Amino acid sequence: VVEALPHERKAEKLGQVGVTAKSVIAVGSGKGGVGKSTIATSIAYGLKNAGARVGLMDADVYGPSVPHLVGINERPTAINQRLQPIEKDGLKLISMGFMVPAEEAIVWRGPMLHGAVTQMLRDTDWGDLDYLVIDMPPGTGDIALTLSQLLPLTGAVVVCTPQDVALLDAVKAIAMFRKVSIPVLGVVENMSYFLCPDNGQRYDIFGNGGAKAKAAQLGVPFLGEAPISIDLRKRGDDGQTGGNYADDYIAPYLWNITRQM
Ligand code: ADP
Repeated sequence: VVEALPHERKAEKLGQVGVTAKSVIAVGSGKGGVGKSTIATSIAYGLKNAGARVGLMDADVYGPSVPHLVGINERPTAINQRLQPIEKDGLKLISMGFMVPAEEAIVWRGPMLHGAVTQMLRDTDWGDLDYLVIDMPPGTGDIALTLSQLLPLTGAVVVCTPQDVALLDAVKAIAMFRKVSIPVLGVVENMSYFLCPDNGQRYDIFGNGGAKAKAAQLGVPFLGEAPISIDLRKRGDDGQTGGNYADDYIAPYLWNITRQM
């Protein structure tokens, strides 16, 4: 059972790492390639589109793809040794990909990862935020543990696909977040189905209904299904991921639930 920190304790703990965000939301998955970064980016845009001040921290050391998804090519500058997040469409962004070339980062050991994540939080001029959204690396508990020690995380969103193996990994991810006392805010099933533009038929390419059932079984809210979309894939490739993926339901849900925490 997770006990939420009282509001003053949260603010104090955040103050210690120099981050002033009202809510910190981690987006994780059991395995890579399920669309975690896409959903994290979409949630950040969704919250921003709803009027919040949002920072997006890409801590996915194995695939720091957020800059690519939102079309950022430049690197952050430092002022008085403080990193200035890159601003795009009103979002503030820092990525593990800015800290180190990806091919080096994947062979880092725990303490180096811990250092990089701490630096992204502590040495970045985030300014006042309503939400800091963190795109986590898939699977591993290392960074979840680091974050849970550094910050009072509001909670985590777990992304999976309907396939059995992905679901099993999502269950592990939920267990991992719970183990480090990060409340799980909900599960999103990505690549749930394909709506054929030619005949309007729905095809359940990776199966159907598994994530919803698993979420119910584990007592975690199910936040919805997102279809396989050629348009979304194209927009990702073009650096135009944007927010319409989460605008309708996921961002408003997170907005509402975090108000009560
Ligand atoms: P992860 O962070 O889990 O590794 P990404 O968000 O980087 O996954 O997504 C992997 C690839 O799949 C990206 O090219 C992305 O544009 C694409 N993608 C993600 N979700 C969808 C979807 N629902 N439909 C089509 N392509 C998607």
